[in-house]
This record gives sequence, C-alpha cells and structure tokens, in this order.
Amino acid sequence: MTQTFSGKLEVICGSMFSGKSEELMQRLRRAEYAKKNVVAVKHAIDKRKSFSCIVSHNGVQREAFPIDSCEEGLQTLEKMIGDSVDVVGIDEIQFFQEGVVPIIQQMVENGKRVIVAGLDLDFRCEPFGNVPMLMAIADELTKLRAICVVCGNDANFSQRLINGKPANYDDPTILVGGEECYEARCRQCYCIDKKPVLSFA
Ligand SMILES: [Zn+2]
Repeated sequence: MTQTFSGKLEVICGSMFSGKSEELMQRLRRAEYAKKNVVAVKHAIDKRKSFSCIVSHNGVQREAFPIDSCEEGLQTLEKMIGDSVDVVGIDEIQFFQEGVVPIIQQMVENGKRVIVAGLDLDFRCEPFGNVPMLMAIADELTKLRAICVVCGNDANFSQRLINGKPANYDDPTILVGGEECYEARCRQCYCIDKKPVLSFA
C-alpha cells in the first residue's frame, strides 16, 4: 500500500442547480488525469436521470456506484473503498444517513481524499441531514450559488413548487400525487408560508 498524499475531506454544497455535481465530477476528472485511483458513489435514491451515473443538470455524467443508505449499503461502501483507492467522490450526500459520517472520517484518516457534494439546505431552508456536520469537519468547503430564476441575482435557496405554487412548510418531503418541481431562488424571491426557526435540541 502506498499513500501518495495525506487524507482530506472536501465538501461542495449549495442549492439545487448550483453546479455541485459538475464541480464534483471536474475534481474527480482532474484526479484521474493525475493518475489517481478514483471511485465515484451516489445515493441509490437519486434516480433522476440514470441509476448508475452521476448526472449534472447540464448533462455531464460519469459512472458511479449506487449505494443504499441502510446499514448494509454503508457496509458495502466501507468494503469497496480498499487500500488502492486514492480518491472517493460521493454525490447527493444529504440523502445518506448519519452513519456515513464516521465512515468518511475513517477514509480520511486512512489517507484518502474524500470529496462529497450535496444540498446544504432543504426546501424549507433548514440544514439538510448530515451535511452541516460534514461542513464542520471539512478541510475544504465550497458553497456554490445558482442564479435566481425570478430576478437573476445569486441564489442560495431551493424553491419547491407543487402544482405550480410555492410549497408549504408542512408539505411532506415525499409527495404522493400532484406535480412538483424545484427552482433556484434568492432570499427575496424564495417563498414559503412560514420562515423556519432553527431549534437546537
Ligand atoms: Zn431573486
């Protein structure tokens, strides 16, 4: 086993349409040009365009192993990242359970460069799952911005629309029936019936 560089955690976060997957894929491509052994992983829930690929909104894609967030899936992730792997890229990290955090920490301890991409805020504008924790322990943090589709300013928020109208705070995360879509919006143009108040348990 040869470790050519020390471990590092890079977190790429931002709203939807901010180019996170594209940035992740670019970093993985550059690592491959540098002859590193790269493994790309995505959450199995993300069936947006292709089951076994990371796909950015502008159509760039690369192969990735779909991993389930259950304990078995996380064990698979641990097993597949062997000594010969230098760089690990994980897309849609917000969908993974908290159990992924110690696995990532261990990979970094083992000398891997781990790059994760995901949403920092959900549609309610609240911190999304494990992402805040990963942002805190990151060696390098990149927060990308999209462009607000309403006014053209920089956008940090993911506006959820159900049947063309702004979603309510209490709408279920998984919608049964009805059509939903998302838009990138700035703070002024983002609409929700109540602004989130963060509580610290
Ligand atoms: Zn705006």
